[in-house]
Amino acid sequence: MKKITSVCPYCGAGCKLKLVVENNKIIRAEAADGITNQNQLCLKGYYGWDFLNDTKLLTPRLTQPMIRYQKGGKFQPVSWDEAISYTAQRLSDIKQKYGPRAIMTTGSSRGTGNETNYVMQKFARAVLNTNNVDCCARVCHGPSVAGLQVTLGSGAMSNSINDIENSKCLLIIGYNCADSHPIVARRVIKAKENGARIIVCDPRRIETARIADQHLQIHNGCNMALVNAFIHVLLEEDLYDKDYVARHTEGFEEMRETVKDYAPEKVELIVGVSARQIRQAMRTYAAAPSATIMWGMGVTQFGQAVDVVKGLSSLALLTGNLGREHVGVGPVRGQNNVQGACDMGVIPNQFPGYQNVVDAQIREKFARAWGIDPASMDDQPGVRITEVPHLALEGKIKAYYIMGEDPLQTEADLGLVREGFDALDFVVVQDIFMTKTAEAADVLLPATSWGEHGGVFTCADRGFQRFEKAIEPQYNVKRDWEIISLIASAMGYPMQYENNQQIWDEMRELCPQFYGATYEKMGEMGHVQWPCPTIEHPGTPYLYQDNQFDTPSGKGQLFAAAWRKPAELPDDEYPLVLCTVREVGHYSCRSMTGNCAALQSLADEPGFVQINPQDAAKAGITDRQLVWVSSRRGKVISRADVSERINLGAVYMTYQWWIGACNELTQDNLDPISKTPETKYCAVNISQI
Ligand code: SF4
Repeated sequence: MKKITSVCPYCGAGCKLKLVVENNKIIRAEAADGITNQNQLCLKGYYGWDFLNDTKLLTPRLTQPMIRYQKGGKFQPVSWDEAISYTAQRLSDIKQKYGPRAIMTTGSSRGTGNETNYVMQKFARAVLNTNNVDCCARVCHGPSVAGLQVTLGSGAMSNSINDIENSKCLLIIGYNCADSHPIVARRVIKAKENGARIIVCDPRRIETARIADQHLQIHNGCNMALVNAFIHVLLEEDLYDKDYVARHTEGFEEMRETVKDYAPEKVELIVGVSARQIRQAMRTYAAAPSATIMWGMGVTQFGQAVDVVKGLSSLALLTGNLGREHVGVGPVRGQNNVQGACDMGVIPNQFPGYQNVVDAQIREKFARAWGIDPASMDDQPGVRITEVPHLALEGKIKAYYIMGEDPLQTEADLGLVREGFDALDFVVVQDIFMTKTAEAADVLLPATSWGEHGGVFTCADRGFQRFEKAIEPQYNVKRDWEIISLIASAMGYPMQYENNQQIWDEMRELCPQFYGATYEKMGEMGHVQWPCPTIEHPGTPYLYQDNQFDTPSGKGQLFAAAWRKPAELPDDEYPLVLCTVREVGHYSCRSMTGNCAALQSLADEPGFVQINPQDAAKAGITDRQLVWVSSRRGKVISRADVSERINLGAVYMTYQWWIGACNELTQDNLDPISKTPETKYCAVNISQI
């Protein structure tokens, strides 16, 4: 029996754990003393390893390469040589015929690790010669990155997960930490025990609202109006730090002009809470000696999400809650390595280390390191994954190489996504399970899973952490970066790595803010937070020390914008708002957690729709009854979960299920800047079956 140190693959909390292995099988997981989890795990950490033992509960593991030579034909098992050469030939042909930008690729925010993401974006940029590489950050915290990079200079959490408990006020907006990051939720409880005031802004009475000093049970889709009202109160009641604003910020007058019309008394009806509550929330936030703002998808999955993120950072700037311990802004990343995927440049506008693709000097640096002609590199930002269905239907994207993502389950408006896939000439899926997207592939490339390889993840607070291989893979599978390297080589660009560390060191040499994060420094239990520019540097627990922001002027940018209504409002035909949410027992498209016996037995009901008792009564629906939920785009079966914790006029569904797949209903109204879909708001009807 041996114990292998790993990092939980299920959320950005980055909990360290030990996998206990006997005869090449995992027999249990034990909590380890990681900096973010301190010997604690949630259910997914304790029971989320079972799929590695091939329990075959939900979906079959991909065990060998397969090709479907003709659309509509059957998958045929093939050798690795055949799978690699066929994929390389088809991609080369499409690049030759339609140009590099006709091919889209994805990295993965899941168990593959940073090294693989680095190799995938290198493949896109150096071999395919396109910046068309993206990841699921696009459908979650893309707006946080886009907004915070403009206002503060970095798109990441400014503070540390283990420092949340020391803050004296937590403003939690659109973030259900109890379901999405249970170990972060424990930090929130600790903060409360330490005397922090907790303000929760959420339409539902979520778990955290139970311990909140104030719960602003706002209307769905009003975030910008609420944030403007918050800023209005700070200015009108003189609650902001004038000295800090004068010394460290810009844009005050424009912001003040915008929020003039957002007196709390004027926006009560829009936001659904009283002016008194709004004013009280800002008095509490401004009076606290240290305050932290935390948010999740309830902020980012809207068509005006980037503006809201910028507005939230204005609250922190106005009150001087940045650049020191116990304060900050916290977009808490969802999937375990979504921060790492962005760090490694699987985003269409930036190389690894957030270096811009439009900067000729940066392109030259990468071209030199990768041994290619700088002129061959794409000099414009690439396509975002949410744009792929549209561009495929327009004939502009012809091939899609998807690694560790399941867009046919997790993206908005699945009818549209399916049409887009049907229009593609060639789809390659590299994954561990036969997901919905894998079923639509032309080539299936089976990869090793978390547990079968090692590497580095970045948790939500910018902390690089190593995880180790626990067991030998049982099937004819390869490591993700090995597969990509073989395809690159078959396309005429020799790419060969011996191990993860070689890739990591190549990446470090090219990324000044990651350079000091060596494998040795991370060690077994280390947590090295970037920026870490030198070998001697210990890492950075909080950003913007001395209030130096990474903006062109070095100052924080204040911002507010007029509130825009969501794109599809309820009407007589579709009278309710649908909001998509998380479920604590499952993760993402459920391919991993659905194959873990303990987790599956906790949540094996295919989908539910949470609804307020009054709305249920109006529709003649009782608790646990099977119902139809329909929108202008589709209709699914679900089971009613009637609860007082749900606000009037809205229903809530999780997106993990095939039956009751709520993305059949959602719409892809995209934020104009980040291109993140408005999956938190569309109009639906609920009716008896
Ligand atoms: Fe894993 Fe997140 Fe749970 Fe920690 S909180 S054990 S990282 S799912």
